[in-house]
Amino acid sequence: MKITNTSVIGFPRVGAHRELKFAIEKYFAGKVDAAEVQKTAAAMREYGWTKQRDAGVSFIASNDFSFYDNMLDTAFLLNAIPSRYAKLGLSALDTYFAMAHGYQGEKGDVKALPMKKWFNTNYHYIVPELEAGTKIHVNDDNKAVAEYREAKKAGLQTVPALIGPYTFLHFATYENGKKATDYASDIKAAYIKVLSQLASEGAEWIAVSEPALVFDVSKDENEFFVSLWSEILAAVKGSGKAKILLQTYFGDIRDSYKQVTSLAFDGIGIDFIEGKESLNLIKTGFPKDKILFAGIINGKNIWRADYEKKAALFKEIQSLAGENTVLGTSCSLLHVPYTTANESKLGADVLRHFAFAEQKITELSELAKIVSGAPDAAALTAENKKLFDGKRTAANEEVRKAVANLKPQDFTRLPAFAEREQIQKKVFKLPLFPTTTIGSFPQTKEVRANRAALKKGEITKEQYIDFNKKQIAACIKMQEELDIDVLVHGEFERNDMVEYFGDHLEGYKFTENAWVQSYGTRCVKPPVIWGDVSRREPITVFWSTYAQSCTKRPMKGMLTGPVTILNWSFPREDISLKDQTMQIGLAIRDEVLDLEKNGIRVIQIDEAALREKLPLRKSDWHTEYLDWAIPAFRLVHSKVKPETQIHTHMCYSEFNAIIKDIDDMDADVITFEASRSDLTVLDALKAADFRTEVGPGVYDIHSPRIPSQEEIEAALKKMVQKVPVEKLWVNPDCGLKTRGEAETLPSLKNLVSAAKKLRAEYNK
Ligand code: GLN
Ligand code: ZN
Repeated sequence: MKITNTSVIGFPRVGAHRELKFAIEKYFAGKVDAAEVQKTAAAMREYGWTKQRDAGVSFIASNDFSFYDNMLDTAFLLNAIPSRYAKLGLSALDTYFAMAHGYQGEKGDVKALPMKKWFNTNYHYIVPELEAGTKIHVNDDNKAVAEYREAKKAGLQTVPALIGPYTFLHFATYENGKKATDYASDIKAAYIKVLSQLASEGAEWIAVSEPALVFDVSKDENEFFVSLWSEILAAVKGSGKAKILLQTYFGDIRDSYKQVTSLAFDGIGIDFIEGKESLNLIKTGFPKDKILFAGIINGKNIWRADYEKKAALFKEIQSLAGENTVLGTSCSLLHVPYTTANESKLGADVLRHFAFAEQKITELSELAKIVSGAPDAAALTAENKKLFDGKRTAANEEVRKAVANLKPQDFTRLPAFAEREQIQKKVFKLPLFPTTTIGSFPQTKEVRANRAALKKGEITKEQYIDFNKKQIAACIKMQEELDIDVLVHGEFERNDMVEYFGDHLEGYKFTENAWVQSYGTRCVKPPVIWGDVSRREPITVFWSTYAQSCTKRPMKGMLTGPVTILNWSFPREDISLKDQTMQIGLAIRDEVLDLEKNGIRVIQIDEAALREKLPLRKSDWHTEYLDWAIPAFRLVHSKVKPETQIHTHMCYSEFNAIIKDIDDMDADVITFEASRSDLTVLDALKAADFRTEVGPGVYDIHSPRIPSQEEIEAALKKMVQKVPVEKLWVNPDCGLKTRGEAETLPSLKNLVSAAKKLRAEYNK
């Protein structure tokens, strides 16, 4: 009996205990050398490969590893290194890191490249920048070849994974009116070279991913895709023996299915989890001479797969696409944690419902046995069936009823914005260019140690509170000395903006080590929505009222919004996302009203991740998402008084396309990321006649570099050209928790000075 082949698109790389993160951060701090980082990196790769080999995965990727991001790796591989980084004269690794997170040192001062969210995930990629003079060619420092060799030396035949030319050019930014097609001939030559190199190294399959095909693809874009690939395939087919797998994920490829299946690829990878149309597409016919890599194990969620359903789906796919169909993950496993084996606190009765990356590769091999009719197929299915007997969690009838009974007025704040704006101007009497920060202040070693000590029971609750109160008081004093207008308490009690809230909500489960890479060395530990959600007790009221008691200036209450809590959790699969969000919305609404009752007059409700789950196809934006996500935010603040000022914050500026929807959240003020994307959002704000007051971030907090006062003034001057001056706020891009104290104070000093300078000019 032949067992069905299995494939994994990519594996986590940061380390089950975040070893790579710590190694890189130590390297940044000058505590270890490059060799040490390389050693850790090699160990991480070996770990992933070994696990997959032991689980019997047939197609294991190499070059899925990265020190920071695969898009940045691709830029590097293709020599798309902007001259300001190349000019620094740093080592290859340091040039790479300069592009990733900026460089400020004896060799120069450059900002990082912009960073954006990768499709609908919380992973961020570095945006490649093609300068007018960029000459694309394969860098001698070829990571794809090096990692293939490394695996081979360890006795493994891997599938080198590359991001494809179409997707690379799709996400790149261009200078001087140049466009993707201007780079076509060079990029084709580069891919022909890399693919041939890998083939001559002995690669049997090479996976090139072109996930950009799951967006809406226009006729021109399709033609461009075909022109790139027909030439590349013609060239590599003649020379090497390697087979080329065109990999896609995060959706279906309805606009390009015809083109993809007509090209000379040997394999096509299609996502049957998020690809709503995938099954219908292969029903229109799948070429006999190609192998389908069917993504049916969810690479994004953490729940065990239902074998019976998955096997039935796979059988159907196989009957349409052929016996050799490969059973795979729907996307890279980068988006899930490593393993449930490192969780000691959640009981076995909970953990048995979870599948992280290592459990998912076991699922692949078990499912492969089931669909191949192996002797233990029936036993495996029977065992799995017990997970879905409906007894996992009981419903909270009260919450369900409250959600079912929501009325239009629950989603409408009165009076309307314009009237509130006037009321609030009178109440707060803030100056022009009011200054504020986004919430968190540097999380020093001591701050983290204090939280850890409480958790381990090494200190009493009183000691813990006492420490944090001192931090808050000092933080407020600092802000007053800086002369910031609207203050924050600093968020010293929070590890993470979602976990902190989840911790106080019924229906949540927490992991100890289930880290997922968010960007570079930053990892997050999304909590799991296990059952119906409700607020157990007031969450932030204690800290916010204490903070307000330390100052006469307005203190912002600081909450995370329902859409972000949902998007940064692992959601349930047994009730709709909409219902889960409304349950969370009701809980946060109670918190908003409690803050207001306790004298907090400005409340910020962060929706850092609102855009993240925006469907990739425009036609789905409203019906599948915005039509409930935006109301969920309004639900949270609809009941506050007109003089209570509601802020929201978003960690990106890419909301040009949904700018009306953002305005419809009906917040009073919104702060967002802007500096890293050169303030391009301002035009959209102007064009939309944006009503909400805005604070586009004036400097990038993801980098340790200190912005000068002049630089901030220049940013503000650009802003006043596009945003009415009475609507403008001055703030950094995001919270300061990942920053050091050393750079925070001077940065904020420059921020306030810049605001005052403009204020003086406008008050003349
Ligand atoms: N209030 C949060 C903070 O300042 C917001 C974080 C975020 O937007 N990611 O840290
Ligand atoms: Zn942010």
